[in-house]
Amino acid sequence: MKILDGKLIKGQILEELKGEVDKLTIKPNLVVIQVGDNDASNIYINQKRKMAEYIGYNFSLLRFPLEVSEEEILNEIDKLNNDNSVHAILVQMPLPGHLNAAKIQNAIAVLKDVDGLNDINAGRLFHKKDGLFPCTPLGVMELLKRYNINVSGMNAVVVGRSNLVGKPMATMLTNHDATVTLCHSKTIDLKKHTSMADILVVAVGKAGLITEDMVKEDAIVIDVGINRVNGKLYGDVDFDNVSKKVSYITPVPGGVGQMTVAMLAKNVLSAYKLQMRDK
Ligand code: NDP
Repeated sequence: MKILDGKLIKGQILEELKGEVDKLTIKPNLVVIQVGDNDASNIYINQKRKMAEYIGYNFSLLRFPLEVSEEEILNEIDKLNNDNSVHAILVQMPLPGHLNAAKIQNAIAVLKDVDGLNDINAGRLFHKKDGLFPCTPLGVMELLKRYNINVSGMNAVVVGRSNLVGKPMATMLTNHDATVTLCHSKTIDLKKHTSMADILVVAVGKAGLITEDMVKEDAIVIDVGINRVNGKLYGDVDFDNVSKKVSYITPVPGGVGQMTVAMLAKNVLSAYKLQMRDK
């Protein structure tokens, strides 16, 4: 069994991006919008700030109170969309219930949407065109590429169908010529599907959902899940037992989460380049 080491690959990617950014006179500029003061969000935003500072991006955080109106957020996004000095806009999720997350995400200019979550970028992924795509599935594809794993012709099974992870993951694997099965909470006999997988990607949010008896010998297992149990982080895969049986596996932490940050970093530079190209 080999570990797919997200931390190691993230380090390489950030180094490569830093090398490119060092040569730019105008630095890419990332703006993060936060509503409220959620502890988990603060941790994620700090990771993004550290990443940006390391690479040499400009970074700013616009923090709004929990009771901010949707109109205020949309007005702010409109200003940022029209500000040529801002290349990348990200709204930290989750948002409080009175704000329509999809509407807010879709208000971000297509070329500045570094989370890749607006409908146009989703459509561009679907049509296999250039665009900005969700960082987590993008990170999985990059991790596979860096370990020279070619998914063409493989049976790929994705568990979880969110717009953030599962669906774009299934689309990316399809675009790379895997034969894809997409499972979810209504799937009957999950094990029947997962046992067929040459590559299994799990993005559910249930610690230990995937057990040893559910995976094929020598499969490649990608664990996207992040579950905090008694203060410790676990994936969706029973790592200790599954890892004995498979050819490759991602650890949690140190796997896909690291790649997500790396792909955000990459998307910021991609957004910058797309905007410079359009000028
Ligand atoms: P969502 O809650 O949006 O989606 C979960 C998906 O899992 C749904 O499609 C749901 O099905 C499906 N599901 C739930 N229970 C089962 C089950 N018993 N069997 C099969 N499918 C099931 O979660 P996200 O996609 O946003 O995130 C998934 C996990 O990945 C979470 O742990 C999250 O923290 C983590 N995550 C990690 C990231 C990283 O960087 N490593 C980034 C983003 C998320 P249905 O659609 O039918 O409800």
